[in-house]
Amino acid sequence: MNADEHKVSSPVPEDGAGTGPAAGDDTGSAVDDSKASPAGEPTRLYSGIQPTGDIHIGNYLGAVANWAKLIPRYDCIYCVVDYHAITIEYDPDTMRDAVLDTATMGIACGLDPDHCTFFVQSHVSETMELAWIFSTCTAIGALERMTQFKDKAAQHKQNINAGLFTYPVLQAADILGVKADGVPVGDDQSQHLELTREIARRFNHLYGPVFPDAKTLYSPAPRILGLDGQGKMSKSQGNYIAMKDRSDMVRKKLSTAYTDPNRLRRSDPGNPDICNIFTLHKSFSSPDEVATIDAECRSAGIGCVDCKKKLGANMETAMSPIQDKYEDLTRRPDDVRDALATGADRVRALTSETMTEVRQSLGLR
Ligand code: SF4
Repeated sequence: MNADEHKVSSPVPEDGAGTGPAAGDDTGSAVDDSKASPAGEPTRLYSGIQPTGDIHIGNYLGAVANWAKLIPRYDCIYCVVDYHAITIEYDPDTMRDAVLDTATMGIACGLDPDHCTFFVQSHVSETMELAWIFSTCTAIGALERMTQFKDKAAQHKQNINAGLFTYPVLQAADILGVKADGVPVGDDQSQHLELTREIARRFNHLYGPVFPDAKTLYSPAPRILGLDGQGKMSKSQGNYIAMKDRSDMVRKKLSTAYTDPNRLRRSDPGNPDICNIFTLHKSFSSPDEVATIDAECRSAGIGCVDCKKKLGANMETAMSPIQDKYEDLTRRPDDVRDALATGADRVRALTSETMTEVRQSLGLR
């Protein structure tokens, strides 16, 4: 099979067609000059997504679409974090397929392996060695303060394992193993990133300057609520629209979605500012259409049924090319596996280089 036959590049976003580092660049240290940033700006980004189920529109709008937009500007390394996923109960019989499916949808959503590095966490074992070393530089008290640990421990009372507790240490190793100096994060991850910085500073203080200070890249991302209006959209709550959902399913799900609870009758004026459907319009509809819906909702000029129909049509326009790409990739899974293997080769080379420095600094080997 020639290189072109292996191509799994995504059709979206159009502005993602930059000249990225060659995937599989085994020198590992060179950053494409076209992505050089002004002094102090990050050059290499890292972020990961869990293979815990369908990528839904909350994941897409809140993270993946933004990651795709960052590809032309930075040396982006993205990961399917399967080692993180095993810190809660899971089904080993379906994990391999879930990892491949998440990667396939990630590529379809714009994480184009021709222009970024995309790999699976468990394919690079050097990171685990770094996580162990970092665990010796991490105060237990700092881990105990992690809000996400407290939340997950409350959710998984039957399985509060050490991996769940040290999750942020592995996350630090993921980021710093490749010496990423920038991390695009949502609000719920900022505490973990602060711990990553603390670990890097502690290591550098004890053993010499090896690791960068990873900066936080906050991106404007809408807060997408679940269709039931109860907290974040999530697979576990069953209140989501999957990126795979075709238009009939999207319309069906939207038809029962929560809106402005005070709008009891068609003739009642609504308040789009508190309506999740309006939030979705802002992501999927044109600015003109958003302005019209804003005005017509407030004046009861449009009803929620019609408002949802418009949203459904615009979501179909935005999601269809992604779904077509996803379906194309599912017919050639070996091409996706090859792209992930190429990504893992590059990350292994980068992390091995880091580990050589780390072992020397520690006085080991
Ligand atoms: S008209 Fe649209 S924006 Fe207004 S409350 Fe209904 S669904 Fe929400």
